Amino acid sequence: MNILDIRSSAPRHRTKLPTLRAISGIRQIVLHHGMTRRGLGGTNYEAYCRFHTQTNNWSVGGYTYGVEPDGVIKWGYDWNIQTPHVGNSNRHSLGIVSPGDFRFEEPTTVQYQRALELVNWLLPQLPNCDKVIGHQEVPGYAWKNCPAFSMNQFRADLQRVQQGETLDEEEVYFNMKLTKVEQSAVVSMLELWTDEKRYSNALQKSWLNRAKAGELTVRDAVRIQYEAQRRGIR
Ligand SMILES: [Zn+2]
Repeated sequence: MNILDIRSSAPRHRTKLPTLRAISGIRQIVLHHGMTRRGLGGTNYEAYCRFHTQTNNWSVGGYTYGVEPDGVIKWGYDWNIQTPHVGNSNRHSLGIVSPGDFRFEEPTTVQYQRALELVNWLLPQLPNCDKVIGHQEVPGYAWKNCPAFSMNQFRADLQRVQQGETLDEEEVYFNMKLTKVEQSAVVSMLELWTDEKRYSNALQKSWLNRAKAGELTVRDAVRIQYEAQRRGIR
């Protein structure tokens, strides 16, 4: 795993000095997405940091690390610099952002894999840090859809990486949850395909319930398509 160390050049506020903290006080790693679509200008780590320091007037950018869609990991600030990303929990939280808007698109597989590797590399070096959570899991942030991919899946994948497994790129992709937009497209399809009056061999309603709950993965979508074809449903 390569880390691009840009700590000497990462954006900082012209005059405001960052708040420092003890590394021993870091208790959790918090994951974020950038909330800007991949490929758009401004969808990268430095651009977020510039926005935070120049527009928001923060002393430093919001995240210690950024994991870009092409897999490059950027390191912007020392661990003892408190970056603003989770309000009252900043002091105890190290922030990692993956540029992209995962409400509407999945992270790239290499981006997801590098994020796992980065967390796996960080954890043993932070003496009191044993939690890996998403922004939306920080107390007070349940309303935030960030990082918008499944943290349970991420933690399960992390466990496997910690045990020395290399995750197969295809597998990572198939385990990814569909975005909200994709889930709702599948819902309208399934509403038709689970209609027993229309089809003698309709698909099971359980797919529909899972789609409505936003729980379908890429693998599920492929299976649904396969089942529909097998049963001659159009
Ligand atoms: Zn966030």
